[in-house]
Amino acid sequence: MSYPHDHTTALLSPTVRGLEPSPTVATNERCEQLRAEGREIFKLGLGQSPFPVPPSVVEALRAHAHRREYMAVKGLWALREEVSAHHRRRLGISVHPDHVLIGPGSKELMFLLQVVFAGELLLPTPAWVSYEPQARIVGRGVRLLQTRIEDEYRLLPEDFERALARDPQRPRVLILNDPSNPTGVSYDDDHLARLAEIAGRHGVILLADEIYSDLRFTGEHRSIARHLPQGTIVSGGLSKWCGAGGWRLGTFAAPPSLGWLIEAMAAVASETFTSTSAPIQMAAIRAFQGGTDLELYLRDARRILAALGGWITARLRRADLRVCEAAGGFYLFPDFSAHAAALAARGIHSSDALCRQLLEDTGVATLPGSVFGRPPEELTLRLAFVDFDGARALTAVEHRPQAEPLDDAWLTEHCGAVVAAIERLTRWLAAG
Ligand code: PMP
Ligand code: GLU
Repeated sequence: MSYPHDHTTALLSPTVRGLEPSPTVATNERCEQLRAEGREIFKLGLGQSPFPVPPSVVEALRAHAHRREYMAVKGLWALREEVSAHHRRRLGISVHPDHVLIGPGSKELMFLLQVVFAGELLLPTPAWVSYEPQARIVGRGVRLLQTRIEDEYRLLPEDFERALARDPQRPRVLILNDPSNPTGVSYDDDHLARLAEIAGRHGVILLADEIYSDLRFTGEHRSIARHLPQGTIVSGGLSKWCGAGGWRLGTFAAPPSLGWLIEAMAAVASETFTSTSAPIQMAAIRAFQGGTDLELYLRDARRILAALGGWITARLRRADLRVCEAAGGFYLFPDFSAHAAALAARGIHSSDALCRQLLEDTGVATLPGSVFGRPPEELTLRLAFVDFDGARALTAVEHRPQAEPLDDAWLTEHCGAVVAAIERLTRWLAAG
């Protein structure tokens, strides 16, 4: 009798047979491996904040390192109160702490939602890489709603309505990620109101993944939850705005009408991870309290991201790529279709081949559009413009008057690897 050693084996549950590690995580590990082999690699694959955790939050973690107890499953009450206050302040929505759920990353909370909610998942694409695999792992149906670059990849109300017309009674959840990973694009308030009206009329639950909302370049964010409070769960956490992805702390905030979902998720949590790390929850209280230091940190982080994102967009457009303007976050999603013939002549017919060849020839790591639910032959990819020393950039920007833009020279000095990666990419394209 031999033991199987292949992950396609029939001994695995059918929903995970052949499942590969998530592309975001896999690209990071591949980059580290290539660097260890001595290759010069530009890490625009994994979407990880370049900025350090703000000092006052690190200090709070240090002060609570001794906290060792299991916490309440839904999270520490004082933290849930702060999350509720943060949502009121930042998003203008009122959420009772009873309906706030803390988890080890919002990714885990999304997985719990898929486990407990017996309905179909609707995903406008491009969609963040993990939504669809999570649904498949637990055996839920997924419907991809393709959007168009001409609409800046926004879900149009008429397309949403059409998707619901088939089997209108079916329970459904729509994940709306605003600002978007991978495009950086956001929705205006009228558009959100129209989508919310349609969802409300059909009883569709909205999962508003607003994890990048505090990295909106303008500092202002309108949540779709304001238009459909009774039907929306808002997802967030520390990973992006607080630079603390590896701390693993995510939040769900729900209305009383969806309290049953939060309770079901908490029951599953109690049988799986029990509670989120105690010291991290204590430090998160400090983070969600906000205050002047955090506002200045965010102001400076946004200023850097807006300038760098703007510079890359302009540079890529000059190289004949189509790129939507990002409203927040640290991603761009260029479309290479104007170069399709030249790329085909180099044997590149898919986003996957595009990414692989780009990495091979230039050392620039990105993720293909296909892992965001786009058709495999569409020549799109995601750039995460995060490969720079955020601590150094923050210190430099502090001393730069607001009136002075972060120009090419500043970006080259402080975000040099990203600038170099974009120059390599455009030279590589031109050489074809
Ligand atoms: N949603 C989006 C759009 C993301 O990019 C990420 C990546 N971190 C997550 C959710 C999950 O974040 P976390 O689990 O770190 O809260
Ligand atoms: N959200 C990040 C990204 O899109 C990575 C973290 C993760 O996948 O958990 O690249």
